[in-house]
Amino acid sequence: MTEPPPSSGPDAPHLPGVRGHQGAQIALMRALGRGQLHHALVLVGPRGVGKATFARGLACALLCPRAPARGCGACSTCHRVLAGNHPDVDWLVPDGKAGTISVDNARACHVRQAHAPYEGPAYVVVVDPADALGEGAGNALLKTIEEPRPGIHFLLLTTNLQGVLPTILSRALPVRLGRLEDEIVAEILRERAGDVPQERRDMASLLAEGSAGVALELASDPTLERCMELLRQALAAVQQGPRAIFSGDHAPLWTAWSAAVGTGEAEPAPEPAEPLPPPEPAAPGKKPRATPKPKKTEADAKPGKPKDAPGLQRAAVRRLTELWILHLREQIRGRQGLSGLPPGAPASPAQRVATIAALQQLEARVERMGNVRLTLEQTLLDLTRPAAT
Ligand SMILES: [Zn+2]
Repeated sequence: MTEPPPSSGPDAPHLPGVRGHQGAQIALMRALGRGQLHHALVLVGPRGVGKATFARGLACALLCPRAPARGCGACSTCHRVLAGNHPDVDWLVPDGKAGTISVDNARACHVRQAHAPYEGPAYVVVVDPADALGEGAGNALLKTIEEPRPGIHFLLLTTNLQGVLPTILSRALPVRLGRLEDEIVAEILRERAGDVPQERRDMASLLAEGSAGVALELASDPTLERCMELLRQALAAVQQGPRAIFSGDHAPLWTAWSAAVGTGEAEPAPEPAEPLPPPEPAAPGKKPRATPKPKKTEADAKPGKPKDAPGLQRAAVRRLTELWILHLREQIRGRQGLSGLPPGAPASPAQRVATIAALQQLEARVERMGNVRLTLEQTLLDLTRPAAT
């Protein structure tokens, strides 16, 4: 799976399966090599940048008999760690009420560690996510984290340090995992979503801003294309002026709107549009687990309502503004904008920044306003005045 890495250069040593995060990888491998790896690490970073993958790679480094302190990625130990079935690696994931880690599971883990490791030189507990550790479950683990036995390691994953219990955080060492480089995200998309058209993968990669997990979700999101069409029509309408905005439901703009909010006739009924970020992170290669029920959208909450309920409309506006802002940012950087979109009327960077501000306001306003479509109309109308796009 991984080749024996040379000591320096672009192919510097890396943990099995881990891409990017070079600084953190090298620092931790060095600490491990010196036998000084902190026994409780909090891997903190945005959703989808590969925290779980990093934890698996680090567990390989702790357990691999062939390449100690690094992990070979190829031996039976590494294979089992990467596949999620090594007896010396336990994953504590939400299994209790409201997406929390149950006290029972945390206690079971505390009991197991008293007899661990079972096979190798270490026993690794991955808590994913660490924010799912409530008071009770946290207390069950606290003693182990406070006075760890030799060879016991905790890897706590989180997007947000403030979500971690202070008692645990104070005994752990935070390791920051930042956003991935675009090339790495593109590479992961190519490998794992190779059947998705290139144009769509490019867009997903741009939108995900360094998160491979988000990029993979976007690449397979059916609402993305509909919202792109809505953006295409919104850009055209803004250029054509008020008439294109107020010429009725059969105008191209509102046909695209109906499709994007799930009432379009030409399109098959889509899944309810989920706002970003969706409830459960899906880091690349993350081992399957019992996922909590998807968060209810407003439309789900009212089964009798038509599909263009405000929840779906808000989700469509959010996605529209997100794509539009990305398009403008690309143009501000001197690029063409998102592929497949018209460049629009020439505009200065300042005008584009003003449009971004108007779109951000729109995003905030639709959360408060009852009539989402009217709010969108008003913003589009405002945007017809300056040569904003
Ligand atoms: Zn190995």
